[in-house]
Amino acid sequence: MGDHQDTILITGGAGFIGSNFIKHYLTNNPKSNIVNLDKLTYAANLENLSGVEESDQYEFIHGDICDVDLVNTLFKEKKITGVINFAAESHVDNSIENPDSFIRTNIQGTYTLLEAANKHWMQSPHNVKPEHKKARFHHISTDEVYGSLGDTGHFTEESSYAPNSPYSASKASSDFLVRSYHHTYGMNTIITNCSNNYGPNQHDEKLIPTIIRKALTGENIPIYGDGKNVRDWLYVEDHCFAIKRTFEAGTIGETYLIGGASERDNLSIANIICKQLDQIKPKESGSYLNQITFVKDRPGHDFRYAVDISKIREELNWEPSEKLDSGIRKTINFYLKKYLAKK
Ligand code: NAD
Repeated sequence: MGDHQDTILITGGAGFIGSNFIKHYLTNNPKSNIVNLDKLTYAANLENLSGVEESDQYEFIHGDICDVDLVNTLFKEKKITGVINFAAESHVDNSIENPDSFIRTNIQGTYTLLEAANKHWMQSPHNVKPEHKKARFHHISTDEVYGSLGDTGHFTEESSYAPNSPYSASKASSDFLVRSYHHTYGMNTIITNCSNNYGPNQHDEKLIPTIIRKALTGENIPIYGDGKNVRDWLYVEDHCFAIKRTFEAGTIGETYLIGGASERDNLSIANIICKQLDQIKPKESGSYLNQITFVKDRPGHDFRYAVDISKIREELNWEPSEKLDSGIRKTINFYLKKYLAKK
């Protein structure tokens, strides 16, 4: 790796958002190194990082964020000057079937990273080692920690935590741990809670890739319940800009909400994708819309999430720039290449 001024430990960088972020960061920060620690679970794909491996700013480590010895060795040997923690079990449906790995990775893993950072960066509580004055721990979290909204209103940084699924409960727990390391030990932390991301490199199991894939294979496109659950869709590249901005300029110990200003219910998302596919890759007869089917709802399915982004807009001058239609088009083009190449 290059002899650069910063070495950021990115965890979970072979997943969806982490891989997009690594590419974004390396392009915009030619003087920083990145160490990517990833366990390579089913959700990871090293192809997400094609082109990055050759960079002398980048090193991949195959390992678990819960592995105390490995994490401490990395802090010491790689002289880690910042952490951005993406690693997580991230699929709500899986957390309902099998919460174990969510508790382990999302809570125990975040704790392991915090402990290592505390040991390597801090002299004593509220007393940072001089060489680590700027070292920051950035935790990537979700708006789902705030629970569910009715038809109106938005989550803000002041909203009460009310997680409803094992996934969101594990993320909420990790947020509390990060918060406590700031208040108790004086560590330089940031938490960002974002809304639903979409874009290239997302795992096939998630809503938007599933809609595209099922459409192309001619299968039913499954939509939970009545399709009225609302999410605020954030294009992943916009999210990467927001993470970089908060990591570099956010106020110590603060939380920032990040959203896409694109609220849509699930049925509308399926409709948009089907209509775009009708134009980009028309079927021999009929519309992809005819494949949409409603399936039994997810237990405890939160009705609506929406975030107020005033704080990050006003303090850090960030707002999303991608419009939903164009973001979906880019996403469809990515998955068309991926799914049609497999045929
Ligand atoms: P993802 O599931 O696509 O990727 C997760 C990555 O973490 C994978 O590469 C996986 O191998 C790795 N990982 C899992 N357990 C690990 C462990 N114990 N040690 C090391 N690596 C491990 O997830 P994503 O969608 O990219 O989400 C990234 C972060 O953003 C997560 O913390 C998630 O909670 C949060 N988030 C995601 C969304 C979204 O819409 N995707 C929304 C809000 C918040």
